Amino acid sequence: MDSAATAKVNLLGMPRAELEGFVAGLGAQPFRARQLMKWIYRRGESDFARMTDLAKDFRERLAAVAEVRPLDIVTAQASADGTRKWLLRAPGATGIEQAIETVFIPEPGRGTLCISSQVGCALDCSFCSTAQQGFNRNLSAAEIVGQVWLANRELGMSPDGARVITNVVFMGMGEPLANYRAVLPAIQVLLDDLGYDLSRRRVTLSTSGLVPQIHRLAEDCNVALAVSLHAPNDALRDELVPINRRHPIRDLLEACWHYLEKQNGRNITFEYVMLDGVNDRPEHARELARLLAGHEAKVNLIPFNTFPGTRYRCSTPAAIERFREILLGAGVMVTTRRTRGDDIDAACGQLKGRVLDRTQVRLGQKLISVSVQA
Ligand code: SAH
Repeated sequence: MDSAATAKVNLLGMPRAELEGFVAGLGAQPFRARQLMKWIYRRGESDFARMTDLAKDFRERLAAVAEVRPLDIVTAQASADGTRKWLLRAPGATGIEQAIETVFIPEPGRGTLCISSQVGCALDCSFCSTAQQGFNRNLSAAEIVGQVWLANRELGMSPDGARVITNVVFMGMGEPLANYRAVLPAIQVLLDDLGYDLSRRRVTLSTSGLVPQIHRLAEDCNVALAVSLHAPNDALRDELVPINRRHPIRDLLEACWHYLEKQNGRNITFEYVMLDGVNDRPEHARELARLLAGHEAKVNLIPFNTFPGTRYRCSTPAAIERFREILLGAGVMVTTRRTRGDDIDAACGQLKGRVLDRTQVRLGQKLISVSVQA
């Protein structure tokens, strides 16, 4: 018998309806699923034996066939500014050990957890170091939700009993919409009031622009959407975000406005990495403003995080400021990312170049930026 056939079912990341079906299969009432969810997500319990309001024989049946198991922590780091980072072991599809990372960014009044959705990425954006690493495999819903479960356990409760993780962003390693099958149930658990009970505005999915999946997402859930635009025209975007050759800007924006309409969302964030001399000129800002003006859009300017072997440099602070002012002048909302947790990157090979106003964290072998703006 192969090991997959004997493996226990990991309950992490299982949406409520599915969990109800699962407990029914064990001969229990559906409300047992609700009790289980409270134990798993509210109390962070993984040991069925300690779930004392469940009948003892049901706990034993559960323990025989199910488990609550996050990925193993390889290393945990804490920055002087309170940013925390966990390197998690993700067994690779080829049997080679891989790792992903989860990052917690505290701010006054909020705590943002940045999670990964894949081991590596297949999309090949030219300014992203994950692209150099290639794609290994999708994470399961258990591995995605498990990052939140682990971070919750590691962070503990805040002294006043308030939740520590208030926001979750899919801005770690991977393209979440390329792993729709696991990301959707994971989102359902994040939003479920018996799961992490996060409001839809506090869960952000960032995508490089998989148009069919954006349309599908509009039908299936209503989280906040962030889109990695990075260029105001197809010629430039084809080069920076190659998926643009399949799903050009026009189709992408149409999907975005449809998403907003369907979800009655507040706005869509367009991420725009600032690359010196590539996409940061005043004419790019004006072209971008023309694309977005009149829509519920917000631009998040991301100072480029450099990495070994890249041909790009980050725009100068003056160029970023000029770009920002042109957008603001055209009536487009803009935020710029801030630096957090850069001291803990030193240990895992943080690069020397530092740019003002950015969040810089290393995810696995990937250097990313995490938006910590509203
Ligand atoms: N695959 C998703 C989520 C990934 S990363 C997406 O593309 O949106 C989150 C953000 O970091 C994306 O906007 C991505 O384009 C950006 N990013 C990737 N590499 C970067 C780098 N070296 N410097 C700054 N931002 C980067």
